Amino acid sequence: MIIDSISADKKIIVNTKWLMINSTADDTTYPDTIALTDDALKARAERIPRAIAAAWNALPYQISITDEKCGEHLFTVVFNVEIVTAGPYHYAVNFVNVKTGNGIGVKFDANAKGITSGRSYVLSGSSRAKFNVSDPRTATDSNPKADTLEPHEYGHMLGLIDEYFEAQFNRGGVRYTYFDGSKEIAMPGNGGMMDNMRDGIAKRKRYALTIGYNAVRILKSNGIKVTKMEIVNGS
Ligand SMILES: [Zn+2]
Repeated sequence: MIIDSISADKKIIVNTKWLMINSTADDTTYPDTIALTDDALKARAERIPRAIAAAWNALPYQISITDEKCGEHLFTVVFNVEIVTAGPYHYAVNFVNVKTGNGIGVKFDANAKGITSGRSYVLSGSSRAKFNVSDPRTATDSNPKADTLEPHEYGHMLGLIDEYFEAQFNRGGVRYTYFDGSKEIAMPGNGGMMDNMRDGIAKRKRYALTIGYNAVRILKSNGIKVTKMEIVNGS
């Protein structure tokens, strides 16, 4: 994450690099998948950064940060994903191509307990993810409708958790605490990108919280004490 506080147009730039790993060959680790060549997979994966930018930069998010030295400044948040096939990366993404079971799959991944073969996920606290390019909601197909899968998974990379209801993970809503101490509980079925994705774009104020707190942390490590941090837009 880069905080550009020098330019007139102040920005917080969130750069994420993914290493594309072709895991479309059917094996016990990733079953049910139909093989794609590296080139075919790359052509499909290349659609993802655009879909994430379209979903996450739509508002765009703006965060007001006040510190003791410089006063109040408004930062526009820019989300940027790049997919690489070599070199340094933030996330290693295993891509699969599972069309069975409505794209959710039938068999289970050998190394992820309870997760069916077609289910996309980001492992929290790790730099690993798995995406199914045949999920009906993927941005990797030529159908521009419902390109919400990867933008949702990207939210997990920003440190956000699922707001939807799933019996085994019933959290009774997801709790958020803003910088001023105010709280919000997001209940399942709210339509947000981290819930059932009805919104289509990321527009909930709370989704920018992890970015805002990270900015506060970075500024603190540079000796700048933030006294106020507020996400000024979103619903
Ligand atoms: Zn999720």
